[in-house]
Amino acid sequence: MEHTATTGEKPMRQPDADRPRTLRRAVVTGGAGFVGSHLCDRLRAEGAEVVCVDNLLTGSTDNLRGLADDPGFTLEVRDVCEPFDVAGPVDLVAHLASPASPLDYARHPLETLRAGSHGTANALDLAHRKGARFLLASTSEVYGDPLVHPQPESYWGNVNPVGPRSQYDEAKRYAEALTTAYRSTLGVDTVIVRLFNTYGPRMRRGDGRAVPAFVTQALAGEPLTVAGDGSQTRSLCYVDDTVAGLLAAAAADHPGPVNLGNPVELSILDLARRIRDLCGSGSPVGFVPRPVDDPGLRRPDIALARAALGWQPVVDVDKGLAMTVEWFARLLAEHAAGPRA
Ligand code: NAD
Ligand code: UDP
Repeated sequence: MEHTATTGEKPMRQPDADRPRTLRRAVVTGGAGFVGSHLCDRLRAEGAEVVCVDNLLTGSTDNLRGLADDPGFTLEVRDVCEPFDVAGPVDLVAHLASPASPLDYARHPLETLRAGSHGTANALDLAHRKGARFLLASTSEVYGDPLVHPQPESYWGNVNPVGPRSQYDEAKRYAEALTTAYRSTLGVDTVIVRLFNTYGPRMRRGDGRAVPAFVTQALAGEPLTVAGDGSQTRSLCYVDDTVAGLLAAAAADHPGPVNLGNPVELSILDLARRIRDLCGSGSPVGFVPRPVDDPGLRRPDIALARAALGWQPVVDVDKGLAMTVEWFARLLAEHAAGPRA
């Protein structure tokens, strides 16, 4: 794949480490999605104007309802895989546009590869033209099914390049390489963050990820679809913590890659049972086949995030899960009540 950066433009001056960054205007690609919409909310709450660029492939304008009448917020419905521009000054380009749940990227393999390659190049070109900081939302999936545990940023990973998760993992690995090359050759001010599993309100009901699946199943009294024997682990970070980490990375000078995640590690069976208890549900556990290449263990080493960004998660997992259950219960009740007159 080839990407040509816009030529004839001056590389951005490297930021002055002694001067605080000003964040007046941000572009958020993928801002109508789960994490992106929370990032848009938080940027607006901190006074930055926000332009969200999203093609609504896996996101929804429902996630942006709170910003609908906000004059400091604009939604541009477009595909970042096509070159795009945004009028006016931009201080930050946060590139989150990509399917992210295993079910979504299995449904959209080519779109996922394009979002990581062409989409990342177009977002980087925008940051280059505007002299903006560029933040790449990469993923713990770059570590694949890890052979080192917990995972530090120095680990190169164990990825199957032709397996059922490859479209996502390799797209993000390419996006990291592209971001690194724009930094080294064009002087774009970049930071790569590797997000570990994030959960919270606005996850899509049917997106297939463990938290929305278990919460909706438990609330409906249906069996909880635990894959394999449920002994595989994940480390779950509440979305407010993840967004605080994104803002800390945007404000810092560090290029990353830096892990953002909660080091509290749970087995998937434990997660299912905790969610069932929080829902007060009698759902049985119904074991289902484990997906091919499903990572066995995952836990971030966040020493770098603590030292370089002064960031660490603060939301306790049971508290975060309780807030998520409450949100889903309200959503399902609204749906059951039908459209308002
Ligand atoms: P999401 O699916 O809810 O949001 C992704 C958004 O990107 C959606 O609104 C979608 O419509 C948009 N999008 C996809 N392709 C696009 C394109 N070509 N042009 C414009 N918009 C496009 O997913 P999420 O969980 O909010 O994840 C957001 C980002 O964070 C992704 O880049 C993902 O890889 C990364 N990430 C998320 C997690 C997590 O646990 N949620 C973990 C690791 C990394
Ligand atoms: N999982 C599960 N039941 C489900 C959905 C997911 O047991 O209904 C498992 C999945 O196999 C994986 C873990 O939960 O081991 C986390 O899956 P998720 O899709 O949430 O995130 P990812 O695999 O991207 O970490």
